[in-house]
Amino acid sequence: MRIGQGYDVHRLVAGRDLILGGVKIPHEKGLLGHSDADVLLHAVCDALLGAAGFGDIGHQFPDSDPQFKGISSLILLAHCMVLVGEKGFQVVNLDITLLAEKPKLAPYRQAICENIAEVLCIDPEEVGLKATTTEGLGPVGRGEGMAALCVVLLERGKEAS
Ligand code: MG
Repeated sequence: MRIGQGYDVHRLVAGRDLILGGVKIPHEKGLLGHSDADVLLHAVCDALLGAAGFGDIGHQFPDSDPQFKGISSLILLAHCMVLVGEKGFQVVNLDITLLAEKPKLAPYRQAICENIAEVLCIDPEEVGLKATTTEGLGPVGRGEGMAALCVVLLERGKEAS
C-alpha cells in the first residue's frame, strides 16, 4: 500500500470556464491556469504522483510547455494513471475536499465522481468528494480562488514484480 496527498489552488477570474472534475459548471467566474485549471483534478494528480513516487504535476506537465495550454485535466490525470500503472500500482480509493465559497457542488457530484472513477479504473463509490466553504475567511472565503485537497491510496497489483 502507498498513500499520497495532493493540494492545489487556483485564482478565480472573469472570462474563464469553471471546470471541476472534468465538468463544466455554470458560474460567473472560472479558474485561471495554463491548462483548464481544474483544481480538483490537479489535487488528484499530485496525490497519485506523490503516492507512486514521481515528481509533482508541475514537473510532469510544465506550464511553460505549449502542448499543455488549455488542455483538459482529465488528459493529465490519465497520463498520471499511466505512470502509476507502469510502477505496478492500482488505485484503492481517494478522498477529495474542495474549498470554495460557491457554487454548490452537489448537483455535479455524481458526474465528477464518475469522471474520476473512469480514468482511475475504480468504482465511483471509491471516490470521496466533499466541499466546504471557509466561512468567508481568507482568499477562498473572499471568492478570489478555490483550493482542493486529495488523499489517495494505492496498492501494488498482482502483475507487479
Ligand atoms: Mg493546478
